[in-house]
Amino acid sequence: MKEKEDQIQSYYRALFRAWGPQHWWPAQTRFEMIVGAYLTQNTAWTNVVKALANLRRARRLSLKGIRETSLGELERMLRPSGYFRQKAMRLKSFVAFLDQQHDGSLRKLFIKPTHDLREALLSLHGIGPETADSILLYAGNHPVFVVDAYTRRILGRHGIIPEKATYEEIRELFQRALMPIADSVADSTRPEKRILAAGLPGAAHPPSAMSRAKRTALVQVYNEMHGLIVGVGKNYCRKSQPRCDECPLQKFLPVSK
Ligand code: SF4
Repeated sequence: MKEKEDQIQSYYRALFRAWGPQHWWPAQTRFEMIVGAYLTQNTAWTNVVKALANLRRARRLSLKGIRETSLGELERMLRPSGYFRQKAMRLKSFVAFLDQQHDGSLRKLFIKPTHDLREALLSLHGIGPETADSILLYAGNHPVFVVDAYTRRILGRHGIIPEKATYEEIRELFQRALMPIADSVADSTRPEKRILAAGLPGAAHPPSAMSRAKRTALVQVYNEMHGLIVGVGKNYCRKSQPRCDECPLQKFLPVSK
């Protein structure tokens, strides 16, 4: 197990040195991040951007905006993101949950202990582990690692996890592995801290209010690792024909590959 943790640490260091901060999640507010987390289910981010632009143009990209928009109108604005009826209904449900159980306040929601909050989010219609953990990490600054299909694919191809590894097993592996990195980030004499502070060119997204939000070193490292993995998955570790020769993780491929 220790060997797997060391491998993940090496991946983080190699990717972060190559690309620097990824500035994920691109959003100006916590609520915008949550809307994005719902909309990105089963669709490419480029489609999410179009739906978010519709909401922003209509001045509906807020709790109040979603609350006061009719379901039909919301469906129309979310159409570019696919599954728009389902997504409109789910967003309405989230706002109702927030209104009924937390006085319509994200501050009151996110002040809850991580475990309780995760359970509450998972109980909502249309929120699975990846969406719940994205909301916890990026909007709530809770220390929870987000496992996505890219994570599973990269680790599977490198022989670090078996095909049947569960979401929770992968999440716990990453969380354990990245803790020592967070300790080194907290120590300002280490290179990670300097890179984070300086910001490097080539980041996946322009800095946003949410990507620059104040957070603990652990949350920041979970944030960066997820963003870096998305970069590998999107640009190199594609489902078919992975571009191993150009990938920053190529040197870590098992010899038999
Ligand atoms: S593209 Fe190749 S080297 Fe890069 S993560 Fe995927 S399998 Fe590994």
